[in-house]
Amino acid sequence: MLKKLFQSFRSPLRKPQQHVRTTPEVLSSSQHSLQRNQFSRYAVSIVERLQNAGYQAYLVGGCVRDMMLGITPKDFDVATSATPEQVRAEFRNARIIGRRFKLVHIHFGREIIEVATFRANHPQDDEDEDSNQSSRNESGRILRDNVYGTLEEDAQRRDFTINALYYDPVTERVLDFANGVHDIRNRLIRLIGDPQQRYKEDPVRMLRAVRFAAKLDFGIEKHSATPIRPLAPMLRDIPAARLFEEVLKLFLNGYAEPTFEMLVDLELFEPLFPASSKALEYTPTYTHTLISEALANTDLRVKQNKPVTPAFLFAALLWPALPARVLRLQERGMPPIPAMQEAAHELITEQCQRIAIPKRFTMPIREIWDMQERLPRRSGKRADLLLDNPRFRAGYDFLLLRETAGEETDGLGEWWTEYQDANESGRRDMIRDLGSKSETGQGPRKRRRSGGGKRKRAGADASE
Ligand code: ATP
Ligand code: MG
Repeated sequence: MLKKLFQSFRSPLRKPQQHVRTTPEVLSSSQHSLQRNQFSRYAVSIVERLQNAGYQAYLVGGCVRDMMLGITPKDFDVATSATPEQVRAEFRNARIIGRRFKLVHIHFGREIIEVATFRANHPQDDEDEDSNQSSRNESGRILRDNVYGTLEEDAQRRDFTINALYYDPVTERVLDFANGVHDIRNRLIRLIGDPQQRYKEDPVRMLRAVRFAAKLDFGIEKHSATPIRPLAPMLRDIPAARLFEEVLKLFLNGYAEPTFEMLVDLELFEPLFPASSKALEYTPTYTHTLISEALANTDLRVKQNKPVTPAFLFAALLWPALPARVLRLQERGMPPIPAMQEAAHELITEQCQRIAIPKRFTMPIREIWDMQERLPRRSGKRADLLLDNPRFRAGYDFLLLRETAGEETDGLGEWWTEYQDANESGRRDMIRDLGSKSETGQGPRKRRRSGGGKRKRAGADASE
């Protein structure tokens, strides 16, 4: 399918900066692999209806890009010359949403098609700026961008060339303003326009570059990659609520592990997770293993369509930063358990200044961490009470994760694995066995077993 598309596409030599044309390259239906019936029939009918009403309308962005790559799109976006009010007037099931920029959501049962009015890029010359419509701060970051524009301008303001492809399902033509098809063929993420300026306008584009590179297995084109490291600190000025949304997109799309590697490499991890980034410096092997194992598990679950909880992810991302803090508090005379509680509290509070993790996730992060202190204490009825705890499963999985990263837990994960599998009398024996070895989990621990076990363990116990 792609072969047909690429064979028919003759790319002329171009200069690196000339990414946007006012006249697009037009690919007719025989020159690309897209087929109208592959797209959401609702999205196609919206485009038809808007065109019949005299507006320009196209399928655009991620859905066109993904279809060209043979990937099932997450959602279908429509871009049109109609204003949000005009779109709403055409559809009964339409709602205008958004404050920063108005969009229309058209509902078809559970499917929502997002319809956006063509937008213009920011005027580059400050004197041109209409201060009611748009504004930038002193570093060039766009603060408001409520400017409608033409189709050509809409293509120009998009982030990457591969995201600026427009598909008209009526004529079955693709409009390519920025050589996006060329970059799809060469598997490249390339910013439209001057990369440095585009990142300064919106530093989140640096994260988007990484997200698409990891998801599509594309490279970041040289000129688009070079400014990232020097501009990475600009992420510190992005509102924490927006970064939370972006971080979820980075880590819940099934490609979290390669994303993490790329974030670290491009120095984007530090402004997002400063404390974890320090841990990566001080205990590199342990921190790296723990985080990448957690992300690999998450990727697997996403691919198997299993639910994933952001709390587990954040618990893992931040855990390696805890020991240094616990130690610092203990050195000031705080006993171990309160020190752990205080360190956890401090760390989450600090992290939320960068990434606004909502309370519904910070609470379970704490519970997963608390569980790590409770899992060693199994005597009497404690083990059964823990098993009944709704957070047990996450806590147990987290314990296994820590062991995989090399934490010495004295066979605790294996004990819990056996305990869950055992019958009533087996469980009683296991608890009795604990008692005889005075296993309480309080005070200095005694070794329960001399070695062995299913999982390989190495290194020091980084939780203490
Ligand atoms: P996904 O598959 O993740 O949804 P997508 O390309 O559809 O990928 P969205 O975040 O849904 O990504 O954005 C839709 C489109 O809006 C993008 O394809 C891009 O053209 C444009 N866009 C989104 N965010 C930005 C941005 N920060 N700067 C410029 N253009 C953007
Ligand atoms: Mg999208």
